[in-house]
Amino acid sequence: LSPVHVVGGGLAGSEAAWALANAGVPAILHEMRPVRGTDAHKTGGLAELVCSNSFRSDDHEANAVGVLHEELRRCGSLILEAGDVHKVPAGSALAVDRDGFSAMVQARLEAHPLVTIERGEVAGLPPAEWDSVIVATGPLTSPALAEAVRARTGTDSLAFFDAIAPIVHTDSIDFDTAWFQSRYDKPGPGGTGKDYINCPLDQAQYEAFVQALLDGEKMDFREWEASTPYFDGCMPIEVMASRGPETLRYGPMKPVGLTDPRTGRRPYAVVQLRQDNALGTLFNMVGFQTKLRHGEQVRVFRTIPGLENAEFARLGGLHRNTFIHSPSLLDGSLRLKVEPRLRFAGQITGVEGYVESAAIGLLAGRFAAAERLRRQPEAPPRTTALGALLAHITGEANPETFQPMNVNFGLFPPPDEAETVTANGKRRRLKGLDRKKVQAARALADLDLWLGHGR
Ligand code: FAD
Repeated sequence: LSPVHVVGGGLAGSEAAWALANAGVPAILHEMRPVRGTDAHKTGGLAELVCSNSFRSDDHEANAVGVLHEELRRCGSLILEAGDVHKVPAGSALAVDRDGFSAMVQARLEAHPLVTIERGEVAGLPPAEWDSVIVATGPLTSPALAEAVRARTGTDSLAFFDAIAPIVHTDSIDFDTAWFQSRYDKPGPGGTGKDYINCPLDQAQYEAFVQALLDGEKMDFREWEASTPYFDGCMPIEVMASRGPETLRYGPMKPVGLTDPRTGRRPYAVVQLRQDNALGTLFNMVGFQTKLRHGEQVRVFRTIPGLENAEFARLGGLHRNTFIHSPSLLDGSLRLKVEPRLRFAGQITGVEGYVESAAIGLLAGRFAAAERLRRQPEAPPRTTALGALLAHITGEANPETFQPMNVNFGLFPPPDEAETVTANGKRRRLKGLDRKKVQAARALADLDLWLGHGR
């Protein structure tokens, strides 16, 4: 069998090479470090963790990333195996000794007879004679390769910064206050005229909110990020607010074309939320990308009428981050539609986080191996964490607002028993912890069936 080339030996690339080799397919892993560094990596080790040493919650009964951990373990993940071996005490989280972890990933790959590691930058589109490639070069993809990808896929297809507005679980919004309406009731393509969720603010609430944004504690840019200017359309909300007390009311919080059904009048200001996934379980706060600290975001955004009890699937942020516009560029097995010999994996596909990146690496490795072995690549069930992430990046995310995403239960289909009618005829909605537990158990059961363990 001729080899599959994996470019980038980070979390995703290491996992992809492992999946290929374990399926019997030779893998050549190209990692540019230590020959060429990035602004964040410090070593030449494979799967280096550039910041925190935590893989987040390991609770697979009620936490989405914990479910993803467990699914990866059951799929034979090298990243999870090394994480478990080099675990350090961290309560219910899985945190690791970063040096031991990276050394183990590297040693296992070096020892595998089907893996070859080559050090050096792939400084452009991979050569045409590489007929199957997985590009897993991460958020800090080298400029030469990033530019080549951009040239191949189109100007708007690759971002160098993420500008993340907070995303809210729809079922945590108070619809006694908020309402569905598009501006001027305009339906838009495929819309109904009721596409947005609107949260109204009166003058006093608006002024207090603007002040809270200005006073809130902000996150610092890293030294190498600070010199990158804001792009149009991704200025942090608090920077916009600092330009004058009315700026937001004429910008993302403008109330024109909207009528609060409770008062029959136009509100003083609004916060609009737009549907973020095909299931309609997640809505993003339009124009609310922010550098406020996470705790401050929760505190300040819960002062918005209708969002008092909001649960956030992800909070806002702004970072340097190279990622492609996966929902329009990739097919269901992570291949570039315009050049199917190239697959993408890891953070560059628009997932966010160590574990999510490894997960997409594992899937890319399995898909590329199946293709090499002339088998049909089989996607994981939509109800699993792996399937939910894959569906999000390869088609279900709203293409207009696509931004990197952590795994969360809002990406999973609602449980079958989401709404039941009790004996006395009342409707009961499965919510909170009960709902997550049902989604988690269903994910693992369906994964076992997919892997053939449950048959
Ligand atoms: P990486 O792990 O970055 O691996 C990509 C690899 O490709 C690198 O080793 C790089 O050297 C190599 N490479 C790049 N270009 C080329 C080329 N042209 N040729 C050959 N090799 C190349 N996630 C978290 O979960 N927790 C955090 O605390 C966290 N902190 C972060 C802090 C920073 C500063 C950044 C940038 C990201 C952070 N992330 C964090 C996100 C994190 O980077 C990803 O979650 C994860 O490392 C991505 O995995 P990956 O395999 O896609 O990319």
